[in-house]
Amino acid sequence: KAIQRYDNLAAARNFRPGKTEKSTMDIPEIFGQNTLTLDKLEERLPKSAWKDLQRTIDEGQTLNIDVADAVALAMKDWATEKGATHYTHWFQPLTGSTAEKHDSFITPNQGGGAMAVFSGKDLIQGEPDASSFPSGGLRPTFEARGYTAWDPTSPAFIVENQKGTYLCIPTAFASWKGEALDHKTPLLRSNDALNKASKEALKLFGVESKRVGSTVGCEQEYFLIDQEFVYRRPDILTSGRTLVGAKPPRGQELDDHYFGSIPERVLSFMLDAEKELYKLGVPVKTRHNEVAPSQYELAPIFELANVAADHQQLTMMILKKIAKKYGLECLMHEKPFDGLNGSGKHLNWSLSTAEGDNLLEPGESPHENMKFLFFFTAVLLGVYRHQDLLRISVAHAGNDHRLGANEAPPAIISSFIGEQLADIVEQLINGGAKSSKQGGLLGLGTPVLPDLPKHAGDRNRTSPFAFTGNKFEFRALGSNQSPSFPIVVLNTVIAEAIEDMTEDLKKAKKGDSIEKALASVLRARLNECKPVIFNGDGYSDDWQKEAKKRGLLNLKTTPDAIPYLTKKENVKLFKKYKVLNEKEVHSRKEIWTDQYITTRTIEVDTIESIAKTMIYPATVRYIGELAKAVEKADALGLDNSGSKTMLTKVNNELNKLGAALDTLADVQAKMKYKDSSEHAVKVESEVLPVMKDIRDSIDFLERYVADDYWPLPVYREMLFIK
Ligand code: ADP
Ligand code: MG
Repeated sequence: KAIQRYDNLAAARNFRPGKTEKSTMDIPEIFGQNTLTLDKLEERLPKSAWKDLQRTIDEGQTLNIDVADAVALAMKDWATEKGATHYTHWFQPLTGSTAEKHDSFITPNQGGGAMAVFSGKDLIQGEPDASSFPSGGLRPTFEARGYTAWDPTSPAFIVENQKGTYLCIPTAFASWKGEALDHKTPLLRSNDALNKASKEALKLFGVESKRVGSTVGCEQEYFLIDQEFVYRRPDILTSGRTLVGAKPPRGQELDDHYFGSIPERVLSFMLDAEKELYKLGVPVKTRHNEVAPSQYELAPIFELANVAADHQQLTMMILKKIAKKYGLECLMHEKPFDGLNGSGKHLNWSLSTAEGDNLLEPGESPHENMKFLFFFTAVLLGVYRHQDLLRISVAHAGNDHRLGANEAPPAIISSFIGEQLADIVEQLINGGAKSSKQGGLLGLGTPVLPDLPKHAGDRNRTSPFAFTGNKFEFRALGSNQSPSFPIVVLNTVIAEAIEDMTEDLKKAKKGDSIEKALASVLRARLNECKPVIFNGDGYSDDWQKEAKKRGLLNLKTTPDAIPYLTKKENVKLFKKYKVLNEKEVHSRKEIWTDQYITTRTIEVDTIESIAKTMIYPATVRYIGELAKAVEKADALGLDNSGSKTMLTKVNNELNKLGAALDTLADVQAKMKYKDSSEHAVKVESEVLPVMKDIRDSIDFLERYVADDYWPLPVYREMLFIK
């Protein structure tokens, strides 16, 4: 009986995509075709309504309710012209993905016909049943309702399907008490906090801005694996990653995949996916192969944080959807294959005024440099003070396999700022002491500060938070995660730092020039946050020791990190900037802890069932065959030492596997905990090691059991057939 795995192999090898449209791509023509861009909305709205809306978008003012009716009408007309029959409020519950509930535009009229209706009320507010979304105790079970509220700062868009289209309206999602059940609400609130603090600070530099916001660009890594293999891998199906699988003889050692030419089928997929993204107004820019075989990356041009976060969700959705058209599965797990690089997401973050001034651009004139040094220092200060929050914002089960594993930044939060800036920081700190020589005002209002070449020393990939020319790059995000909470954290901790430094500066400025005042503020604040600056090798053991000496946090796993979320200082911070109230903070801790436990539970159940129902039977069959061979050879008087050795090895390992499964049952039966945080810690410290033992035995067996008995597609097949 030829093993079924070979059928999948053949199918994967012979895959040809069905007839796809020819990919002529007129980008300017199709870009934003499926989004209701502001230009289009302006054309369709009465002038006064448009002005009102614009104020909401640009300056964050509350939308006049009457205007909503006008916008709803324009939106409905636009969508139905595009063939949409339904609309949905599109929101981002704390599951980390997106949610939709479709409603038809059609309402029956008195004459027995039907007409398309969509009012301002329908636009502004929806009422999905929220009982199945995680609320972490925010929503009592008897109150199932949740509310979605239109976010006018992110454009509505059309999703196309072969059979039709529907309108998606980006919305926030909250409980009936107005508590945020989603990722968007805190993000919008943190934008406001950052805006307020930054505008106030800018005034000290004589700059009036309409609005200041964070800009974000997310580089996204992913794997593409033939679907045929995925169907036969219960672990990928339930957990998104391989829970077993021996390292192939050839992995990424040859580095021949990185930046190599893109395989034909993959390139077709990319072109198709990019086309869909362009239509949705997502400004995709770069694509290339990544380090591991079958690993790729995509990056857009940066946008305002809120829109960038929505677009990142759309990007993940489209990549997964289009991959299937090409017989591929897009894996975004942080560590789909053991022994090979996992996938991350780099969050590029900067601060920009509505007038287009990037506040982290070192710039050329000294005046610009003052501003730059102020905001640059504020970022470092915020990150230093709230390392725990940055760490928490990237903490989830999948990322635990990647962070600190010599392929991704360690769990210690530090910042790489490059040689040049490190030198400047050093001089600023020592400025006071050296004032007799250089006046201590280096780089502040005098041309002594050298122009900072862009991307100077941008090659340190081991840093979780690196300054790269005119932005910071937070590199510890997991591939599969929503970028929203990391953005929320950055926005909030930096808003606080800006506000504190603004106060400093206001005080210091009394009776002193801005140059002198700023010099003293920078000196004090850089001295404070200096420990977070690290330009060396983040992968090294020395850094672990050095970081400890500096008093930096090293929260290695998700269960280690999450409890810090509800520390007094953090609750106070989020409350002060009206980003999350105390209940909202606690609910997130609950939800993320539960998510960790659930993820691990699914993984454990899956590996257990693979071991028992796939590996055990296959190995027993092979043992039977070996035993027969040993017996036969004996009967014939032949030397059977080879088969005997093999038999013994396989049999011993199978016994080990059996013992590990028993241990697992034992650990699970005996596990006791007082709350979910302790449960998570115990899953991590007691269950994970047994999972590893189970895996080790299975991976051993994979190397010994006859290939035609082995039930699972192996790494070499999954990774090298494209
Ligand atoms: P690098 O090679 O340093 O990663 P890239 O120019 O390739 O730099 O940019 C990587 C990502 O950073 C892109 O998504 C880009 O849009 C984003 N980016 C560039 N400038 C900014 C900025 N000012 N704010 C936010 N993101 C930015
Ligand atoms: Mg980068």
